[in-house]
Amino acid sequence: MPRAFAGAARFLRSVHDDRQTTMFRDQAIETIRRSELERLQLKRLQDTVRCVAERVPFYQQKFAELGVKPEDIRSLADLRRLPFTSSADLRANYPTGLLAVPYDDTLRLHTSSGTTGKPKALFFSRQDVDNAAELCARSFVMTGVTKKDVFQNMMTYGMFTGALVTHYGAEKVGCLVIPAGPGNSERQLMLMQDFRTTFIHLTPSYALYLATFLEKHGVDPRRDLALRKAFVGAEPYTEETRRKIEQGLGLDVYNSYGLSEMNGPGVAFECGQKHGLHLWEDHFLIEIIDPQTCEPVRDGEAGELVMTTLCREAMPLLRYRTRDITSIITTPCPCGRTHRRLNRITGRSDDMLIVRGVNIYPQQIERVLMAQSGVGRNYLIALEGLDEMTVKVELAEAGFEGQVEQLMKLQNHLAEKLRAEILVKPQVQFLPPGSLPVSEGKAKRVIDNRKL
Ligand code: AMP
Ligand code: ZN
Repeated sequence: MPRAFAGAARFLRSVHDDRQTTMFRDQAIETIRRSELERLQLKRLQDTVRCVAERVPFYQQKFAELGVKPEDIRSLADLRRLPFTSSADLRANYPTGLLAVPYDDTLRLHTSSGTTGKPKALFFSRQDVDNAAELCARSFVMTGVTKKDVFQNMMTYGMFTGALVTHYGAEKVGCLVIPAGPGNSERQLMLMQDFRTTFIHLTPSYALYLATFLEKHGVDPRRDLALRKAFVGAEPYTEETRRKIEQGLGLDVYNSYGLSEMNGPGVAFECGQKHGLHLWEDHFLIEIIDPQTCEPVRDGEAGELVMTTLCREAMPLLRYRTRDITSIITTPCPCGRTHRRLNRITGRSDDMLIVRGVNIYPQQIERVLMAQSGVGRNYLIALEGLDEMTVKVELAEAGFEGQVEQLMKLQNHLAEKLRAEILVKPQVQFLPPGSLPVSEGKAKRVIDNRKL
């Protein structure tokens, strides 16, 4: 290439790089003054309420029952006058009952994962698809991702939002995207080696499995791979699990949160501080309520996250009850972003187990297990008989095979530690590494066969 052209090409590339990295690190919106943000939120809330009052019979009926009209929403505090929306409402209005645009103007359909029966149908307009990708791009760039990065997406492709939304987000940043999907760890390893993957997106359970796989195959990720970051989400996990993944894969883990009803991933991600997830408040209004009374909890207290969409066209949702339990970090983030942070989601209010009259979240058990040396990366909580709980957990690779006395001691020690955490003493059962089923999507951590 002639020198003059080479210089111009270099210049253009650097302009392009700058644009790619700054376009999504939209300082203006990420560090917007709270007063300005609230003005923007109010305007968007009023537009959303007007839109559903005109176009969605479900909300028309709810507004009529509550005697509320769009012009009653004069401040953000008036949000509380609006009706809640539940996942049961989404199912009852399946497939198109909550659409706010003509069917012809929808561009993509996703469904949410989970329970049996009809799924929740979630529609996206062209603008919704673009916004979802934009929020993911914003979240990736927040942790330092640039177009030079190579993204191997290990989330499940298909109806689930987890893979597609981050896929388009990373493409927006300009990354090379490898749509690997989960599982087939031999192939994952080959792709990571051959294409020098720098960041991945996956569930905590698959991340733990992948770490074990690499160890078993003598791969030292720090030496043999280019991996720098993992965005880990789609299911709850603990700080202890984050540390295990970071050690096992030799990278930084950033918590990523989203749900299909609110676009999918990109709703709230961690910044470089790795302490709490910035929830993008220019797109969503958040409340934390007591799931029993539906009243707001005090600042910083834990409760159920409730979200209202501010920019969604195809399916705006008012005060959607996520069932996810979390709290808001009340102090500003040292990174300078003004969008508030959520603490790690500790579980779903419907994940709560009641064992011998005590309320228990599986995350409490995970925290104890993952902090214990000698214990491996996979576990299962089995509820049987008349309220008996057995915690089945794999031993670490360098386990205690043959050392019966030591094993018994550790079993007892763990059972006592669990009792201190959950107030119920379970049976602890150790299993050889690799013996529990591994899920590629969301892990099934509880089997409830009680005859109560
Ligand atoms: P889906 O709509 O199928 O994508 O599932 C969304 C649900 O997955 C959320 O409501 C949460 O219960 C869970 N989830 C997603 N990301 C996280 C995360 N980072 N931590 C804990 N739970 C998560
Ligand atoms: Zn921050």
